[in-house]
Amino acid sequence: MLTSESLTALRATLEAERDQLRRQTEGRPDEADFDENFADSGQVAAEQGESRTLASTLTERLDDVERALAKMDEGTYGTCEISGEPIPLARLEAVPTARVCIEHA
Ligand SMILES: [Zn+2]
Repeated sequence: MLTSESLTALRATLEAERDQLRRQTEGRPDEADFDENFADSGQVAAEQGESRTLASTLTERLDDVERALAKMDEGTYGTCEISGEPIPLARLEAVPTARVCIEHA
């Protein structure tokens, strides 16, 4: 069972991660800034591809964090989305964005 102290600590962790992810996703240099004369086009394409991959990973991570925070607001945080059973605190502390218990992961 989640105590309010645990929830407060987990919320602080999630909010800190959300803020960091927002800075990372919003603060990226525009892809148009790539100077095609600086490197051959193949390398530029590879760098742009990596940049996009990183951006989508960050965006997915941010979605997970925001969903966890929304569930805290709704009062459904810490409950397995499949079985409806409470997710053990140790798992939430290890993975604050967990939406299912270990059994259903
Ligand atoms: Zn479960």
